[in-house]
Amino acid sequence: MLGSPEGPQSIEITVEPHAGIRRRCSRCRKPAPGYDCLPQRRWLFVPLWGIATYFCYAPRRVECGEHGIVVEHIPWSDGKRPVTCAMMGFLARWARRLSWRETAQTFQTSWEAVYRSVEWFVEWGLAHRQLRGVESIGVDEIHWGRGLKADNFLTVIYQIDAGCRRLLWVGRRRSQATLRRGLKALGPEVVKGLRFVCSDMWKPYLKVIAAEAGQALHVLDRFHITSHLNQAVDQVRRAESTRLGAESKKAAQRLKHMRWPLLRRGSRVRGRARQKLNALLVSKLATARAWDLKETFSHFWKYKSEMWAGGFLDYWCFRAMRSRLEPMKKVARMLRAHEPLILNWFRAKGEISNGAVEGLNNKIRVVTRRSYGFRTFDAMEIALYHNLGRLPEPESPHRFC
Ligand SMILES: [Zn+2]
Repeated sequence: MLGSPEGPQSIEITVEPHAGIRRRCSRCRKPAPGYDCLPQRRWLFVPLWGIATYFCYAPRRVECGEHGIVVEHIPWSDGKRPVTCAMMGFLARWARRLSWRETAQTFQTSWEAVYRSVEWFVEWGLAHRQLRGVESIGVDEIHWGRGLKADNFLTVIYQIDAGCRRLLWVGRRRSQATLRRGLKALGPEVVKGLRFVCSDMWKPYLKVIAAEAGQALHVLDRFHITSHLNQAVDQVRRAESTRLGAESKKAAQRLKHMRWPLLRRGSRVRGRARQKLNALLVSKLATARAWDLKETFSHFWKYKSEMWAGGFLDYWCFRAMRSRLEPMKKVARMLRAHEPLILNWFRAKGEISNGAVEGLNNKIRVVTRRSYGFRTFDAMEIALYHNLGRLPEPESPHRFC
């Protein structure tokens, strides 16, 4: 124990090799004759009583018939890492509950040590995960960081089967090449086995999905269509608010603080917001008409028959095109252009869960927000797999958390 009058600063546990146990090759784990002994090294272990703890050991080298002169197998160590596997697992598990910085502070180690531990944990998990039985995937883009450069977007592939929802892959940018890379990473067997693919109307994705997973039913996600409608309503509101503000303050007042009530589902707006919304709706404002179109569209999802739903879609687009509201017309044109893919939603009904992509997106946002400390894509990629990948975990003889 190394200490000072206030107490120990660290605990060092010296480990001696057991005379009765044969040394093994670290590559094949087979017993091998000894060669020489290397200088002593230290491995950080799980802190005991809040005191940093190290294993001290002088690794020996062996002469393996197959692998030549290599370091012996050390059960608590993996490669050249200065941290024991137990501690890496410990830090990685805590790094799901706390930010990496908080984890480092709580257990008196560095951010770098936490990063490397999570990296090790995730690499192990990715190497050992099973991709059998993936039938439905969701493909989406996520904005990351500041600005709208191509590098500020990520493409994510989720598994959205009822029994298993997880992040399968994440890659930089949102181009055709990105998605192709992602599907390649999943492997041809997974791609061939897909029955449903859920995505937004983002053109590069549509093309790649049609080319690579043509056998799967491609569905345009309800959540994405709803968010396009919401964005259109918001554009109408903002433009009108600016226009009215220039004319009279009183009229503009009506649109103030109405962003959220307008974007919520109509039935979920209550109380004072409801009163304001009602007052707005009886007005002849463009925002009211846009909101009405958006609300009407929600009936689309209630249809049971694809044919009737198609009829409704035509009717809605006709109304939207006559609304003289450019953002709504834009949505109508987009929906018309993708009608078959939107109607696929009714064929996939009951098979894929509605809202799975949205739920996973929200979770991603929690991670990327908590992790503003991640300056690099690599670190964030690891954090996303760690939190959303549902990866298998390396086993250890003892669990410390
Ligand atoms: Zn060997």
